[in-house]
Amino acid sequence: LLSSDGAVAPTIFAEMSAAAARTGAINLGQGFPDEDGPAEVLEAARAAIANGANQYPPGRGIPDLLSAISEHQRRFYGLQVDPEREIIVTAGATEALTATLLALIDGADDEVVVFEPYYDSYAAAAALAGATLRTVPLRAPDFQPDLEQLAAAVTDRTRIILINDPHNPTGAVFRREVLAEIVRLAEKHDAIIVTDEVYEHLAFHAPHTPIATLPGAAARTLTISSAGKTFSATGWKIGWVHGPADLITAVLTVKQYLTYVNGSPFQPAIAVGLRLDDSFFDGAAAVLARKHEILGAGLRAAGFDVLAPEGGYFTVADATALGGADAAAFCRALPDRAGVVAIPLTAFVSDVRRGEYSGLIRFAACKRVEVLEEAVSRLAVLR
Ligand code: PMP
Ligand code: GLN
Repeated sequence: LLSSDGAVAPTIFAEMSAAAARTGAINLGQGFPDEDGPAEVLEAARAAIANGANQYPPGRGIPDLLSAISEHQRRFYGLQVDPEREIIVTAGATEALTATLLALIDGADDEVVVFEPYYDSYAAAAALAGATLRTVPLRAPDFQPDLEQLAAAVTDRTRIILINDPHNPTGAVFRREVLAEIVRLAEKHDAIIVTDEVYEHLAFHAPHTPIATLPGAAARTLTISSAGKTFSATGWKIGWVHGPADLITAVLTVKQYLTYVNGSPFQPAIAVGLRLDDSFFDGAAAVLARKHEILGAGLRAAGFDVLAPEGGYFTVADATALGGADAAAFCRALPDRAGVVAIPLTAFVSDVRRGEYSGLIRFAACKRVEVLEEAVSRLAVLR
């Protein structure tokens, strides 16, 4: 986690956001919206502060939010989750992931199987927990895993199969047969499934299917999500994890010494958000899908090959035809060349697989339409 001179290396997201600030470029790198979420949710946080929700909340989270999460899982997915024993609130999905790995990994003999490319905190959390990371590649154009490679990666040493669906950075939504194979392998090798579903409400073609809804899965699955993406409140850092009570107790044991508790005025506000009408959730996915269309059309016009996403904040494009076979170098030059910041996919892969992803770039679509239009008009200089 340290760079060669012993300093803490900034994450790729922080580095690229700094490049955008320095050059005045449009930041399609780090994934955060440039507009606020629903007014009811913002107002509920203001009201909570005014009403004194400013001290430590209960360790598992406030009962109202725990109930709202349980209701949400039943309403959208038919999942039954006990709000008192099977859920804890965390400081974003990030803390849920790290606390889960720290709680469940015993040492380097324990392996975590993860798809690659992966969100950067996965490898860091596995390293903090002392686990061995075993990766299964997702390949363009559809970024679905090869089921034989997946089966070969999961063994009796596998403690956790960690998935992210919809997937950052590729935009993949895993097919049902992929989810079913993950459940089969977890049962066969007695592994725990940890699923990061922060983009659950941002799937464009079909409603999201939590892996915990597959037969046999719920008893061995920890489901993680977050308010950040759903309610455009990435800075609030309200996340949660639910699953079997004994596993949740293990995660809580770690969480109480990481942050103890978090976000007291934001917790009631997110409870309000989770109870909003279907029209809010459907509208958010439709608006983002439209933004991906604008971004994708602009990238195509600029000469990129676009790999349209099925969900999430990001569109992946291949820059090879534009002379961007080394996308990392291409992205480093992009702020000065075109006034746009984006992130090479190599930022999400291990050193040994860099070559396989070298021409691919991730662009964030979670920006206002006029910002996306300005960005794609700037990118036209690349042609
Ligand atoms: N998982 C994925 C796949 C993400 O993209 C992100 C952040 N964008 C997170 C986890 C972190 O979520 P949070 O901000 O709630 O910690
Ligand atoms: N998840 C966001 C992304 O992928 C960034 C979050 C972060 O900066 N850690 O861009």
